[in-house]
Amino acid sequence: MPDRPTANEIQNTAMTAAMAAATRAAAQGEVPVGAVVYRLSDGHIVATAHNRRENDADPTAHAEVLALRQAAAQRGVWRLEGHGLAVTLEPCPMCAGALVNARIDELVYGAADPKMGCVDTLHRLCDEPRFNHRMRIVAGVQAQASADLLRSFFAARRRGTAPPKPRHDTSQRLREEGKPPTDTTAQ
Ligand SMILES: [Zn+2]
Repeated sequence: MPDRPTANEIQNTAMTAAMAAATRAAAQGEVPVGAVVYRLSDGHIVATAHNRRENDADPTAHAEVLALRQAAAQRGVWRLEGHGLAVTLEPCPMCAGALVNARIDELVYGAADPKMGCVDTLHRLCDEPRFNHRMRIVAGVQAQASADLLRSFFAARRRGTAPPKPRHDTSQRLREEGKPPTDTTAQ
């Protein structure tokens, strides 16, 4: 039987997958943030997502929320106890709240976010003792690589060499959600 990976190895492998997702976001003109949900027992990755705010024209389409939805839908339960989430950037208040609501047991993040970070920087929502759920927090995993990716994305955008922001396609999103587009006569 192969040795079980250590917690450290699991966290690093998960972050490497989250970084790969963030890189795919940048290629689509999305701010490069990626997230994965993984099983704490063996590190198996159950969901991978990246920021899709532009693609979906959805202010809630952050990598963490999308990864949590995917993992919960796949498991058929909203509670994700026994799972961790790795994300390349410190979660915002919405995502920190979603992690608490999902009962995630471990959060691993890369770069700190001085503007929106609500795990350590501006607030501490993921280990708030008054909430009914708290999680283990591991900060700064592959932080430099994550910060470099964000920096080069915004630098390219300022230079005008970044991929253009995608035009959102609502009908596509509605199709994915199993609802018919409102206007089927278009095109
Ligand atoms: Zn967020």
